Parts: sequence; C-alpha cells; structure tokens
Amino acid sequence: MATVAFFAPAAAGHVNPTLGLATELVNRGHRVTYATTTAYAERVAETGAEVVPVTSTWEGRGDIETPQMHGRDLVRAMNLLLTETKAMLAQLGGAERPDLVVHDGTMCWWGRILAGRWQVPSVETWPNLVSNEHWSMARGYTTFNPLSPGFLLMAVRLSRYLRRQGAAGMEAFMRGDNAALRLVTLPRAFQYAGETFTDRYEFVGPLFSARGFQGGWEPAGDLPVVLVSLGTAYNDRPEFYRTVLRSAAGRPWQVVLAIGGVDRAALGEVPPNVEVHRQVPQLAVLREARAFVTHAGMGSTMESLHFEVPMVAIPQMAEQRATADRIAELGLGTVLPPDRVTADTLWNAVDAVADDPHVRERLAWMRGELTAAGGVAAAADAVERVLR
Ligand code: UDP
Repeated sequence: MATVAFFAPAAAGHVNPTLGLATELVNRGHRVTYATTTAYAERVAETGAEVVPVTSTWEGRGDIETPQMHGRDLVRAMNLLLTETKAMLAQLGGAERPDLVVHDGTMCWWGRILAGRWQVPSVETWPNLVSNEHWSMARGYTTFNPLSPGFLLMAVRLSRYLRRQGAAGMEAFMRGDNAALRLVTLPRAFQYAGETFTDRYEFVGPLFSARGFQGGWEPAGDLPVVLVSLGTAYNDRPEFYRTVLRSAAGRPWQVVLAIGGVDRAALGEVPPNVEVHRQVPQLAVLREARAFVTHAGMGSTMESLHFEVPMVAIPQMAEQRATADRIAELGLGTVLPPDRVTADTLWNAVDAVADDPHVRERLAWMRGELTAAGGVAAAADAVERVLR
C-alpha cells in the first residue's frame, strides 16, 4: 500500500476527470490524499480519499472574469495562476511526503513543485488535448506574442519564482519534463495526431466516478431530451440562454438548460418544455439525452461520447474551439460558432445531428475507442507501474 497525494486546480473540468482514478486507487488499498477546496470536498470524499482542505484565491471571486488562455489574456491567466500557486504552497508546504504525486498537468504548478521538492515520482493528469511537435494547441488556437513586454515580464517573474522553489528551468518546468507519466483522459483516437504521442503519454480515456453528490435526474415526459450547457467556467452568457428560452417553446424537445451562476430572473419566461438549473447531474442527464448543445469542454465532450450523444459544439474559448473542430472532423457532431447562434441555426443544428445516421455510426465507433482506452483500470495500472 502506498500513499498517493492528488493535487488539482479548484475547477470542475480539472477535478472531475481525476475522481475515477482516486476511487480505483482507494479500492486497490492505497491511501489517497486529495488537496481541494470546500466546493469540491464532497465529490473528493466520495472517492474514499482523505480531503486535505485548502483555500483557493479564486473562491468567491465572481468579479474575476475567467481569462482566455491565449493572446493578451494569457499574461493575466499566468498572473492568477502564480498567485494561486503561492497560496497553495503556503498551505501545503508542511504536508507529509507521499510515495507519489498525481497532479493536473495543465495548470497545477504547485503539484509539480511539491513533487520536485519531495523528490517523489509524479503522474500528471491531462484533461485536455495535448501538444507536441506534430500538433500543437499553440498553432492556430492558443496563439500569443512571446515578445510582448507583458509576457516577457511575466516570464522573468515566473523564472525567478521557480528558481527560488528549486524547480528546473522554466521551459522544462512548463513542459513537465520530470513527470514519470502523463495520463491523458481521452482516447488516442480523439487526439489530433494521436499516434505521434509516444513518450510517457498514456491515453486512458475518461475516468468516471459515481457522482452521488449530484443526485439523480429523471426525464419529465416523453419528448427526447436535449441538454444545453456551457460548462462551469466560460458560462456567463445570459444572451445565449435567452436565445434558447425564447425559441424553445413548441419544439419537439425536452430542454434541460444549465445556466451556472447567471441570474435566472433576468432570462425571461421559461417555456413548459424547458427546465432551468444552475447545475445539472450531467452524467445522469446525458444518459437520457438525444442531443447535447455543449461548449465542448473536454470533460463534457468525453461524457457525451460515453453515452453516444450527438453534439452541437458552441465553443467559448480557444481550447474548446480545438475540441469542437475535432468533434466535427471525426463526425461526432457539428460546430456552431457563438457569433452565429440564432434560433434557426441552433435548432436546425440540433435536429440535424440528432437524426444523422452517420453521426450515430461515428459515435458507436468512438464509444469503442473509449472502452479500448482502458479507463480507470488502465490509469491505476499505470500509476502502480510508476510506484513499483
Ligand atoms: N458539470 C456538471 N453539471 C453542470 C455543468 C458541468 O456536472 O451543470 C460537470 C461536467 O459533467 C464536467 C465538468 O462539470 O465533468 C465540466 O468540465 P468541462 O471540461 O466540460 O468544462 P469546463 O467547465 O471546465 O469548461
């Protein structure tokens, strides 16, 4: 039995994809600790892991607009992440040394720093598309100017900080060169240039957990269900929700609309075939859904593929655009750019994907790829190989 310490940013898109692995490691007799905030404590406790409570600098900051991870906003994003890293290390610096660290590879700098400080092996979880010399998010999606004064200043600050933490050079640190393994929580077939990712990448597919913390959900009637959600981060889109609500009445759909933190009262009248929630138990709804209007967050995308639900992708940021394009390219749904959403384009797209036999065929193929990826068993096997 080993002690495995999990770290992830306080965000559903980064925590949820790790919960199945935590559960499986606990079931295999390991002791798992998981540093997380109050908002995620219940779902982490459900895995059987010991919750290590931490406070995030992002908590209760509805005033901060979620930054885009490219262009000018990248520097703001890096600033927020550096502040968060310092806050996390101040709280976790005295934590006991585990045998292995599992941490989110995209944003969890503190997990990387702690693994280095403790001199224990680390396994990174990647809930998103990964990049290499053959395909890169930075080419075409997350573009930015590396010579802008703001970025250069940020790079100097970050380098200095990392040096003080005893971390490797900034580039090696950012690439996660010290990780023993990267567990990518999508199937290789979904990754652009998937066959070129060999060295230390394992495409294990999504790692689901029971999610009892969210409760269940039952369809209200006999109409086919369409779930409409923009996820948990880039979801402050009242105008989009209004478009859905204004145009849903009389359509042959039961619409389940998740609006996040948007003020429900400001959205206007709710037609009888629509139910509005802040958050839905997404796995329970997708199990019943015939179509999913989604922001194409990778977690949501994998969940849709698991239940073979055709998608209309309306991406809200660069990474989601890359995922949405892949959904369309692989025939798993269609893309509707946010600036082209009208009542007509939206409902035409929903009707079209739901009835398309080619999409059904492609979804069945991709479901096979998800199963073949191995999921929680493959992920836990990989972690145990590193432990040995
Ligand atoms: N989620 C949920 N209910 C909601 C909205 C989201 O359970 O109403 C979950 C969803 O199932 C997924 C995660 O939150 O596991 C969102 O991650 P994703 O990568 O799709 O997008 P993000 O929120 O990070 O943009």
